[in-house]
Amino acid sequence: MQRLVLASNNAGKLKEFSALLAPYGFDVVPQGQLGIPEAEEPHVTFVENALAKARHASRLSGLPALADDSGICVDALDGAPGVYSARYAQLAGKEKSDAANNAHLVSQLAGKLNRGAQYHCVLVLVRHADDPRPLISEGSWAGEVVDTPRGTGGFGYDAHFLLPELGRTAAELSAEDKNRISHRALALAALTERLGKNGLQAAQP
Ligand code: IMP
Repeated sequence: MQRLVLASNNAGKLKEFSALLAPYGFDVVPQGQLGIPEAEEPHVTFVENALAKARHASRLSGLPALADDSGICVDALDGAPGVYSARYAQLAGKEKSDAANNAHLVSQLAGKLNRGAQYHCVLVLVRHADDPRPLISEGSWAGEVVDTPRGTGGFGYDAHFLLPELGRTAAELSAEDKNRISHRALALAALTERLGKNGLQAAQP
């Protein structure tokens, strides 16, 4: 097995990535287990932040590293909150919590008819910190922001993220269903497809 550092300490992500990457010969280790602190995320795009996180984890561990960056992009807000999804309310001087983020999002959309939004996820896998050809994959999941929350599953913006074709919010899906169709699932499927075809050394875009 090839050890692969995950540039995150999120237990849910670790479980998901470990299960899906084990068949490709990867033993996924969270960066915290190696004493690696979280990287800065100073950029305005998901891909730049994911690359920064992957490089940081790889440089400090000497191992290949995988990072993800994700968030919700709302059409009527020119793609905001985007990379600031986790800190959306905090940046407006409010508390840092999912509830505050959702309340802030709903307030920003007051009076707007266009409710289209996408969850977006970018995954970056670097073989080493200075890898000139990182593997980059993306997944996007389209929905609509609703003012009234529904459901208790998931996290973040899920209770306000309606999938019109399912008639349910992401928080009303089972974890299994969400993990099959979400932005993260799509990005991971794109990554594993490339690993399956070529393996890590030869994997090309
Ligand atoms: P991160 O990529 O785990 O740092 O997530 C960034 C932020 O985007 C989260 O804190 C959530 O606010 C939002 N987000 C990302 N993915 C999801 C999701 O699947 N459901 C709900 N919110 C999400």
